[in-house]
Amino acid sequence: MTRTQELRALAERHSAHNYHPLPVVIAEAEGVWVTDVEGRRYLDMLAAYSAVNFGHRNPRLIAAAQRQLERVTLVSRAFDHDQFGPFVAELAELVGKDMVLPMNSGAEAVETALKAARKWGYEVKGVPADEATVIAFEGNFHGRTTTIVSFSTDPDARNSYGPYTPGFRVVPYGDVDALKAAMDETTVGVLIEPIQGEAGVNVPPSGFLTAVRELCSANGALMIADEIQSGLGRTGATFAVEHENVVPDVYLLGKALGGGILPVSAVVADSDVLGVFRPGQHGSTFGGNPLACAVAREVIAMLKTGEYQERSRVLGAHMHERLGALLGEKVREVRGRGLWAGVELNGKARPVSERLMELGVLAKETHETTLRLAPPLVIEQDELDWALDRLEIALRD
Ligand SMILES: *Cc1c(COP(=O)(O)O)cnc(C)c1O
Repeated sequence: MTRTQELRALAERHSAHNYHPLPVVIAEAEGVWVTDVEGRRYLDMLAAYSAVNFGHRNPRLIAAAQRQLERVTLVSRAFDHDQFGPFVAELAELVGKDMVLPMNSGAEAVETALKAARKWGYEVKGVPADEATVIAFEGNFHGRTTTIVSFSTDPDARNSYGPYTPGFRVVPYGDVDALKAAMDETTVGVLIEPIQGEAGVNVPPSGFLTAVRELCSANGALMIADEIQSGLGRTGATFAVEHENVVPDVYLLGKALGGGILPVSAVVADSDVLGVFRPGQHGSTFGGNPLACAVAREVIAMLKTGEYQERSRVLGAHMHERLGALLGEKVREVRGRGLWAGVELNGKARPVSERLMELGVLAKETHETTLRLAPPLVIEQDELDWALDRLEIALRD
C-alpha cells in the first residue's frame, strides 16, 4: 500500500462520506503549488473555492498570524481585544458601510443576515409578526444549515432535511419579472450571489443586478449580496457587484477573508440594518476572535492596494481568451469573470479533473458537467499557461 492509499483508507473508514475528493493526499503547500504525501507537486487551480485567493501560506498573512499567536488568540466577545476595533473599522471602510458583525463560516454570515433582515423587517419596515419573506434564486448556494438548505433547489443539498424553514420564495436567477412578481409588502430581503459559484460560475444577464437593486429599493427590501465566494478580488474587482456599479444594503463575506488560514466571515451593512441587534440577541464564541481579526486585517490591507484585483482582471482576461479558444466538440460554454471560470463540458467533468490530477493540476468538477477553475490570485502567467496547456491535453485524451 502506498502512503496515499493508507491515508485514504483511514479517511474512507472513519470520516462521513459527505465529500467525494480527488484521490490526492496533500502534505504541504506554498503559493499556488501543493505537494502530496508521495512528493508529487500539483498546481492548485481551485484555491479552496476562493478561500486561498492570496495563495497558500502567503508570507504576509502567515507573519500576521504568527505575530498574533504570540500575543492573544481568543477572549470571546465577553471582553474586547485590541484587534477588534481596528478590524471592524477597516472592513467597514473597505466595503463602504459603517457596521460589521463578524462570524466564522460563510453559512453563519448568511444566517446572521437572514436574522438581521427579519428583525429589520419587523422593527423598522413594520411587517406583521412572523410574516417576513426573503427571496432567493434557483441554483443558489448559501451554505448547509437547515434554514439555508430550506431554500436550496439542489436535491442533494436539500432532500431528507425537512421540515424546512418557512418564509422563503425562490425565483429563477436572472428573471426580473419573476422577482418583481414574488415581491410584496412582506419581503424583507433579496439574497443573491452576484455570480453563482457552486451552480457553475453562472454570470447573470447584464443589467440584472441593477434591476434587483431597483426592485429592492422600490419595495423597501434589503438587497443582500452573498460575496462569500465572488468577493475579495476573485472577479477582478473587490466585489462582484462593482461590475454593475451596484451597492447592496448588506454584504456577506467569508472564505478569502480568513486568508486561507482560518474561517472568518462577516456581515457588513449600515447601522440602520445591523443596529437592530442588541446585546444577547445574536452572537458567536469564536466570531471576531483576535487571531481571526489579525489575519483579516492583513487581508484587508492587501486588498486596499488593488494589486490582487488587477492580477485577477488581467490574468483572468488571458485565461478566458484561452478557454474561449477551446469551445467546440468537448467544451460547450465558458462562463465567469476574472480568474474564475465554469467550463461547461459536453460530457462528465469528473474524468477530466482526474486526468488533470495525473497531469499535475488540481481542479474540481461542480455538478456533473462543469469544471470550475479558480486559481489563487498570486498565480503567474506562465503557471496559468502551464495549467491551461494541461487542460487542453486532458480534454484531448
Ligand atoms: C462557500 C459559500 C458559502 C458557505 O460558506 P461556508 O464557509 O462553507 O459555510 C455561502 N455562500 C457562498 C456564495 C459560498 O460560496
